[in-house]
Amino acid sequence: AKESGKARYELFDVDMHNNAMKRLRIENDLRNALQKNQIKVYYQPIVDLEQNKIIAFEALARWNHHELGFIPPDEFIPIAEETGMIHDIGQFILHHSLGTLKFWQTQYSQANDIAISVNFSSKQIEQHDLISEIELALQENELPSSSLKVEITEGLLIENEKLAQKLLKKLTESSIPVLLDDFGTGYSSLSYLHKFSLHTIKIDRSFINQMERSEEHLTIVKTIAFMCSHLKLGVIAEGVESDEHIKILKHLGILQAQGYRFSKPVPADEAQKLIVNFNA
Ligand code: C2E
Ligand code: CA
Ligand code: CA
Ligand code: CA
Repeated sequence: AKESGKARYELFDVDMHNNAMKRLRIENDLRNALQKNQIKVYYQPIVDLEQNKIIAFEALARWNHHELGFIPPDEFIPIAEETGMIHDIGQFILHHSLGTLKFWQTQYSQANDIAISVNFSSKQIEQHDLISEIELALQENELPSSSLKVEITEGLLIENEKLAQKLLKKLTESSIPVLLDDFGTGYSSLSYLHKFSLHTIKIDRSFINQMERSEEHLTIVKTIAFMCSHLKLGVIAEGVESDEHIKILKHLGILQAQGYRFSKPVPADEAQKLIVNFNA
């Protein structure tokens, strides 16, 4: 018994060691990932359920490492935030996705009404010239401010309330809608909903997932929808995976949705095909 205990310990140490090594490796290689064209942008449609049309694409970062293979954003974005590399990565995602939208628009008139929704982490918001960078990215691609949506999470509003308040006000004044991502998962103080200039709430997929099975989750979704309609906030349901989800959402008056039911996040050329098929 003593022997096996020791063996388990060693195994555990090896695991910890491997994890630490992998993290170090990711941290090191992330520095060159942009230059090596390993960071890609994938696009997931956000659909209007009434018109059955794509109204926006969320831009999602992907890293295809030459040896480690595909590394999910949940793994490398936090490291990018800690090391400050999120600034360069965020810049790249912003410019690249808007450039892609412009390209689609030159190919298909249906793409003219579509927007790109970009995730911004707290670290990026602390950058003092973020607004001018956003405006520059729009100008460079000759796009109106309505072509961009900014996704932030609740954490940001708490960590840096004054700064967030100023930034959100400026974005709203520039006609750039601000979306509150993953709503319901964080600290979820309802005071944010009127304290900050928010345009739309994205209900986290953990609530949508459970709607059919759990009365509590359904009630939460229903209540968020009710609240948003009274506060004149838009609502997007995340993680919509089935026709049953769509049916419930429509019944609750939630008419914008995103999820695998429509498409998983896909590369630009596949997203372009979705525009042609959906918004014909
Ligand atoms: P998020 O912003 O909440 O993005 C939605 C995530 O849900 C995506 O994961 C997407 O693939 C996944 N998803 C979409 N529909 C469904 C569905 O129907 N079912 C299920 N089970 N999942 C669905 P992904 O692409 O792995 O991104 C994870 C997170 O990484 C994002 O969560 C976001 O917080 C972060 N992230 C991704 N790209 C960026 C970026 O460019 N900048 C920043 N700051 N964060 C990013
Ligand atoms: Ca998001
Ligand atoms: Ca989300
Ligand atoms: Ca998230």
